[in-house]
Amino acid sequence: FLEGKTAIVTGSNSGIGLGVARQLARAGADLVLNSFTDRDEDHALAAELAAEHGVTARYIKADMSNAGECRALVEQAGACDILVNNAGIQHVAPIQDFPAEKWDAIIAINLSSAFHCTAAALPLMRKAGWGRVINVASAHGLTASPYKSAYVAAKHGVVGLTKVTALECAREPITCNAICPGYVLTPLVEAQIPDTMKEYGMSREEVIEKVMLERQPSKDFVTVEQLGDTAVFLCSEAAAQITGTTISADGGWTAL
Ligand code: NAD
Repeated sequence: FLEGKTAIVTGSNSGIGLGVARQLARAGADLVLNSFTDRDEDHALAAELAAEHGVTARYIKADMSNAGECRALVEQAGACDILVNNAGIQHVAPIQDFPAEKWDAIIAINLSSAFHCTAAALPLMRKAGWGRVINVASAHGLTASPYKSAYVAAKHGVVGLTKVTALECAREPITCNAICPGYVLTPLVEAQIPDTMKEYGMSREEVIEKVMLERQPSKDFVTVEQLGDTAVFLCSEAAAQITGTTISADGGWTAL
């Protein structure tokens, strides 16, 4: 049902962004993939998704830490019916040791890029008379953990921005919502398992259950397919009046 719609997904050459892009393409949307690299494999990924789902797909390099590049991404795409603000990074350290440049990078990539991309996309959505802004926040947009000051601040900021965007578009067929995932087994998270096994002298299963999924009552990871299908749902007519809110996919984390 998304044939003829163009979806821009920031930070979509891996993990959740790629999973969301794939499900949107399965529903018929044309894709603009993005990250800050410009490798052959980035463009090959777009070609692969296009062939797999019979849609058009392009990869556009843009560094989401740079306001001008965020806006240029949307301008270069030329159309944007669905904007998924997904790019994000993490750094873990106590506040007094937290490197200022890491703080700035996390706020820029995880929060400000959503503002700049939304600002550039809304005129295109208004011209088309329909739009969906989907922000990938986190359980950390609703709750906190120690040592993740920049990430938690940015993700709470994304939830706030989601509400303001929704209110500014409330009288138009444009919605804005945030998806708040718990732990997702992306390549990034997978890569942390061996080190954590060594650090705690634990088996893979123990690391997953006792360390990673400690706060996730389901004791199961969220999958990128589930998050992609949640994004597809938010694009559907059933979700037309869902706006300015958060959808948690966290195995019960925020119910604790
Ligand atoms: P990931 O590292 O696999 O993906 C992050 C994506 O952002 C990659 O495509 C990366 O290339 C891109 N990116 C990083 N810096 C960028 C920059 N400067 N410019 C453009 N793109 C950039 O991680 P992920 O787990 O898929 O995370 C995606 C989003 O989901 C993030 O916003 C993250 O905070 C959020 N999230 C992840 C989890 C989880 O458990 N993995 C949970 C909740 C929320």
